[in-house]
Amino acid sequence: MGISFTLIFCGVFCVSALLISILINALPAYSLYIIIGYICAASAVAITIACYKIYDIKASLKREKKKLDNIIKHINSMVIIWSDDFNYINVNDTFIKTIGYNAADLTGNTELMKKILPADAFSMNLQSIINNRDEEFYVSAYSGKKVCTIWNTSIAYTHTINKKTTYLMLSIGPDLTETINMKNELMRYSKELAETENKYTLSMELSEIGLILKEPGDTRFYITEQLRHMLGWDHDHIGIEELRALFHPKDRIIFDTIIGNLEGGSDNSADNSHSAEFRALTPDMTYRWFQFRYKTMPNKNLSQASLGGAVMDITKDKEKDKLIEKMAYIDDVTQIYNRNKFMLMGQELIECVNDGSDIDYWVIVIDIDSFHIINDTCGYANGNKVLCSVAAAISANLTEGGFAARIGGDNFACLLKADRFDDELPQKIIENIQRDVANIHSDVIEKQSVTCSAGYCRMTDGGGEFSSVLDHAEFALSLSDGTRSSIMKYDNSVHDRIIRNNEVEKELAAAIENNELALYYQPKIDLNTGEVMGMEALIRWIKPDGKVVPPGDFIPIAEHSLLITKISHFVLYEACRQNKKWQDLGLKPVTVSINLTAIDFYQTDVTALIKQALDDTGLDPQWLDVELTESLALKNIDHAIQQMNEIKSLGVKLSMDDFGTGYSSLSYIQVLPISLLKLDRSFIMYLEDDNISREIVSAVIRIAKSKQIETIAEGIETQGQAQILKNSGCDWAQGYFFGKPMPADEFEKFLILRQKEPAKV
Ligand code: C2E
Ligand code: MG
Ligand code: MG
Repeated sequence: MGISFTLIFCGVFCVSALLISILINALPAYSLYIIIGYICAASAVAITIACYKIYDIKASLKREKKKLDNIIKHINSMVIIWSDDFNYINVNDTFIKTIGYNAADLTGNTELMKKILPADAFSMNLQSIINNRDEEFYVSAYSGKKVCTIWNTSIAYTHTINKKTTYLMLSIGPDLTETINMKNELMRYSKELAETENKYTLSMELSEIGLILKEPGDTRFYITEQLRHMLGWDHDHIGIEELRALFHPKDRIIFDTIIGNLEGGSDNSADNSHSAEFRALTPDMTYRWFQFRYKTMPNKNLSQASLGGAVMDITKDKEKDKLIEKMAYIDDVTQIYNRNKFMLMGQELIECVNDGSDIDYWVIVIDIDSFHIINDTCGYANGNKVLCSVAAAISANLTEGGFAARIGGDNFACLLKADRFDDELPQKIIENIQRDVANIHSDVIEKQSVTCSAGYCRMTDGGGEFSSVLDHAEFALSLSDGTRSSIMKYDNSVHDRIIRNNEVEKELAAAIENNELALYYQPKIDLNTGEVMGMEALIRWIKPDGKVVPPGDFIPIAEHSLLITKISHFVLYEACRQNKKWQDLGLKPVTVSINLTAIDFYQTDVTALIKQALDDTGLDPQWLDVELTESLALKNIDHAIQQMNEIKSLGVKLSMDDFGTGYSSLSYIQVLPISLLKLDRSFIMYLEDDNISREIVSAVIRIAKSKQIETIAEGIETQGQAQILKNSGCDWAQGYFFGKPMPADEFEKFLILRQKEPAKV
């Protein structure tokens, strides 16, 4: 019964009362008052009833609103109560906190409400508003942020006044921003992962990548079908312990780290992206490699963070990586790491050390003593076996976390974590290695005993660069000067030597500019005729005070810098120029020999340089001889042969210097295009007293002759030595007995004299 019914009832009542009063016109006058009074009373009753009715509707509306307001306070999601004319709006605290607007801001503000409620709310299709329960809707918050929700709307109260029905709507929406972001993030991840790996087409993308999600407070992970398939898991959720059990035992620490990242609400750092690689058990009961890229998102209310990420099977890449790593970083012969890997590891470690952490490392370099003898006498294959045994001895003696590599021919190196309280650690480890190396028994090397020497340096003593730490350790090793089983520590005295060398290097650079270098000449005598057949140009550094510095004091230093190429350039030009000058003076032409180093030989176009020097000075190529050492020629035998042939094709002679001190045996001489073999002084020294030396020398001369190679002996100091060599068939001789190295003017006089009066042998 509405208000209208009450009014109609009152109206009918009044009209009927009026009619009755007209009909009973004859009634006495006081009756009219009675009727009027009657009408008034009836009207008052009707109005009162009508007013009451209106009051009652409004009060119940108010009550309803109050009731709703009370309820929504306790709802943890965003709630908005709104009348369809937007003249009544109320929101709960969660709404105000999330969106930033309160009820007063929104009331009557249709424009603002449009940013908050879906469009349906404005077309007032009630059914569609109510049915629309799964559409994500982005609400514009006061801060400008977009908050994602799914509004769940229902009619809370309806009332009709004057036929007009007003609806009070209740919309509840959880803040889904994080979840939706996470979902989008996951999609982005899987896409990114596939894109960066650039392996799969978009269609393959989703089938190759499994997704995983963990909500805070949930002890399980949600995993997508692809991941279920990858891991052989039947359900769409997997418990923490169950997932951990699938990890390879060695990789469970990675799993624990991932879980650990979630505790305490995760890191709040800007970049909370992580990546991990691990092995996990797959349905065929084998472990495969997976890459896991994930993000953790802190949760405001819970102490745990949520986690979402993508998992991809990278077993094939790992296998490829392994192969590449093996090719790039494993030494072919010993199967331990090679120099490249050692340098990389060293660089990584020195960065930690330089960062000021408390850790330090020792760098040890190990060299097999006289390895060339093993190679010479037992052959390369057996030499390789020795290298393998030494590598095994080194690896077996490393302390935990140690790292060994073969960094060159017979050179090994290792990195050891330093113990603050044990400075003797490297010494002990090296001694253990030396003991094991001495025990290398093999039928192939028979009686040969294998020994090794070592040099070591503390990483913090290396000057900040790993290459210099290694240099220092190698420098310490070089100080052993060929002593067997030596152990040398790099210390300040070594450091002083390096500094001194650096100074010498600087002085030498200046000396070259100031023309302080000069050539001395030492005669080469024909043992049969006593005539001078040639001379060796030997460099000297003549200081401004007249002091003469021998080549042994500066050539090795020059070899460590580019100075050697400048020196060789000077020697080549000066020797050719001087020889041509003597020929132009009318002296009988003789050969001038120059010494070249491995650097000249391998790092410059030595043939072009020689040709240029001959052209510029006008010396005929036949009067130039280049002395090379065995070790130089054997560094890269193919390259050496090619270079030597090129030099020979110019018409220049080639000699093998210091024969007998190097790595090779006579068999190598046969393949090198040399015309002269220079027997080293060490063979000549004991000729007179030692039968074996005599036999070796005469055997070498014989073999050389059979190969049409002439022989010359160096370091002859006595008549007896000269005599023995002559009798053994040696062609030429060089030594103090015939003449010391002399400055050019002195040698000129010597040459003139000897051309008139040959030496007596
Ligand atoms: P090398 O080429 O074997 O030169 C022979 C060395 O033996 C010379 O020493 C010479 O003085 C020395 N010698 C010659 N006869 C005797 C002797 O009867 N008794 C003794 N005890 N020594 C004798 P030097 O001039 O000190 O040169 C040493 C080394 O320095 C040379 O050995 C050569 O390897 C290198 N060298 C000299 N000049 C040059 C040069 O211009 N360039 C390069 N790269 N190296 C050079
Ligand atoms: Mg020489
Ligand atoms: Mg020599």
